[in-house]
Amino acid sequence: MRDLRISVTDRCNFRCVYCMPREVFDAGHEFLPHSAILSFEEIARLARIFVGLGVKKIRLTGGEPLVRKQLHRLVAMLSTLPVEITLTTNGSLLAKQASALRDAGLDRVTVSLDSLDDATFRAMNDADYPVAKVIEGIEAAAAAGLAPVKINMVVKRGTNDGDIVAMAQRWRGTGHVIRFIEYMDVGGTNGWRMDEVVPSAEVIRRIHDAWALEPIDPNYPGEVAERWRYADGAGEIGVISSVTQAFCSSCTRMRLSTEGGLYTCLFGQHGHDLKSLLRTGASDDELRDEIAAVWQRRADRYSEMRTKETARQPKVEMSYIGG
Ligand code: SAM
Repeated sequence: MRDLRISVTDRCNFRCVYCMPREVFDAGHEFLPHSAILSFEEIARLARIFVGLGVKKIRLTGGEPLVRKQLHRLVAMLSTLPVEITLTTNGSLLAKQASALRDAGLDRVTVSLDSLDDATFRAMNDADYPVAKVIEGIEAAAAAGLAPVKINMVVKRGTNDGDIVAMAQRWRGTGHVIRFIEYMDVGGTNGWRMDEVVPSAEVIRRIHDAWALEPIDPNYPGEVAERWRYADGAGEIGVISSVTQAFCSSCTRMRLSTEGGLYTCLFGQHGHDLKSLLRTGASDDELRDEIAAVWQRRADRYSEMRTKETARQPKVEMSYIGG
């Protein structure tokens, strides 16, 4: 166990078509009430126990983590732990919050951006949100001391795959690292189809045709992004290939959902309820034993077993478990 991903909210101000499609997450959708979600104090207590079990990196995510009020307070609480603290965000509220987050102890940030073409991006986020504002957020994060920023682009064939090379070009030589993510069958609402997945090998081929790329070693064992660098020294890019090259066998991730469910896989169906334990007076030792037992029993390897049929199985939504 090395990485802990914590979903701090199931709410988001975007409705990305591949994650929280508006037809499902509409005005009638019931998000979790405040009383059901873990408090910052509960999250920080669990995080300390996870760190005692070996976690080296904590990522705050969601939903959109920056819509949770005063998130910098949680970052400050976590920053007392000997771990790297990172955040994944859609960037819309980043310009406003970057300095406070950095001052609170945030180490790194990943910003999702699926296209540089405004019309394509607005259609993908389905909230009519412009590219320029996300870029403003990336620049504010860098100015606040959070550089290099990682930029995540989910590639969906027929939607934004025409933007791969432009995206690589935009971030070449900036020090920031663009990572291309294969479109995944997370949750049960995005209508995923294999023919809409652009394999990472194809992404690499298309960029390599423009500027020569060479593979580089992972930063640490179990890193999910495969790293490549430009032969001309203009920096590096990454690809995350959970569909075409599953990495279950080296997975070191544990996930804590917004309401305190423990998941050992992004494609899980059931979480292990830690909130009830927390709220019925469990000691730190009891919580630690419970977490360790869940980790030791884990047997998930969904991405290695994925077929057209499994893609239709019920799975937890990514906005709830944390992407
Ligand atoms: N709201 C934040 C954001 O936009 O980065 C954090 C949560 S979001 C669920 C985390 C990441 O998951 C984003 O980079 C998003 O693009 C990615 N993601 C969501 N659904 C996906 C899917 N079906 N396939 C691949 N990546 C997906």
